[in-house]
Amino acid sequence: GCDKEKLRVVFMENGIDAVIHFAGFKAVGESVAKPLKYYRNNLDSTITLLEVMNEFGVKKIVFSSSATVYGDPEELPIKETAKLGVTNPYGATKLFIENILKDVYISDNDYSIAILRYFNPIGAHESGLLGEDPSDIPNNLMPYIVKVATGELPHLNIFGNDYDTKDGTGVRDYIHVVDLAIGHISALEYIDKNKGIDYYNLGTGHGYSVMEIVSAFSEVNHVDVPYEIAPRRDGDIAECYADTTYAKEKLHWEATHDLTDMVESAYNFVVKNNE
Ligand code: UDP
Repeated sequence: GCDKEKLRVVFMENGIDAVIHFAGFKAVGESVAKPLKYYRNNLDSTITLLEVMNEFGVKKIVFSSSATVYGDPEELPIKETAKLGVTNPYGATKLFIENILKDVYISDNDYSIAILRYFNPIGAHESGLLGEDPSDIPNNLMPYIVKVATGELPHLNIFGNDYDTKDGTGVRDYIHVVDLAIGHISALEYIDKNKGIDYYNLGTGHGYSVMEIVSAFSEVNHVDVPYEIAPRRDGDIAECYADTTYAKEKLHWEATHDLTDMVESAYNFVVKNNE
């Protein structure tokens, strides 16, 4: 990620108009244990990329940020203008990069920058050809549920059922990865025609609890997902879901896949790939 020479070659050999910057380490727990690894990788690689873009006069960029920049939200649903605050090094790298991009724009108003704040991406392409199946024990809810459903892991640990939410379990805004991908196309189309820097929530606007996700997964896929209630996970918040108005207005984008599509495609991917 930080090899400037190789990156220059990519820019030299291709007529690049715009960049979508997805790369970065993303495990919250690991970032707490190894903060320097996260700061070095996520920040260094971004600065290198921005320097090379500058050398080649490329001034359009879409950046993958995260709803983690909102920390523990004061108001729900969360608007892009909400107060920001991060609680771990991973989140800090996302917020630093947002600020680096803002300073780059201030230094040169020719830039077009879209910062996409992802909520909780899950699911897979309906073909079953693109999806996630991590080889390690997953940190995130959906890949963990999938491994329980296939029998690779004995049960799901639900991290707390005493939150101030509809059923006591954590509430998140899960978004189908295909909707997320289409959001990037909309952002690219927007920055192709408009200069400036702006921030967009990519979520559905619906909050689902861990229990609701587990039930939907079992019902839709006709498979058992045994679970146990475990203690809260450090750093977790009770509830987080997006106000999606701004992305609708500016990018003309909104999510169209529902929870059934998400849990069905997630399971379909591993079933297809374990045949
Ligand atoms: N969660 C859980 N068990 C797990 C993984 C996650 O109960 O094994 C819960 C977690 O506490 C949160 C929700 O599922 O309420 C989503 O967690 P995930 O790690 O997928 O995403 P996050 O919102 O933390 O980025």
